[in-house]
Amino acid sequence: MRDKEEWYIHEAPRIVSDEVWDEVNSIIQKQEKEKIQPLNKKVHLFTSYLFCECGGGMYVPSSNPKYTCKKCKRKIHIEDIEAIFKEQLTEVIISEDEVNRHFDGTHAIIRDKEQEVENIKSQIEKLEPNALMNIITNQILKFSN
Ligand SMILES: [Zn+2]
Repeated sequence: MRDKEEWYIHEAPRIVSDEVWDEVNSIIQKQEKEKIQPLNKKVHLFTSYLFCECGGGMYVPSSNPKYTCKKCKRKIHIEDIEAIFKEQLTEVIISEDEVNRHFDGTHAIIRDKEQEVENIKSQIEKLEPNALMNIITNQILKFSN
């Protein structure tokens, strides 16, 4: 690159509209003013999912690494909550097995019922000509009497 003294400054056509330019600049200024650092924000797993008995939402204040109720200030150790969560997760996994076992049972019942339906269908097919004959015979008898 040449020395700054050798630079020629040209007027270049704008590649973004005034609106976009202003909007981007206002976003940059706003972020600098509010010091928004979304990626540096500490995220705790249960923030916005964990509620206290009193109904207050629980969060982890930067001053104290415990879930703290916004309303009554009750505190729970992060490790305790994670332990409870893991325990419940295990229960969910176990009960999923149970659910699958139950479904296997249900599937067997459905198979049995389907077989029954097939049996009944074939019985009906066998019955039908006779039943039809009976109706016809009855009709004939009725008329002949
Ligand atoms: Zn509370």
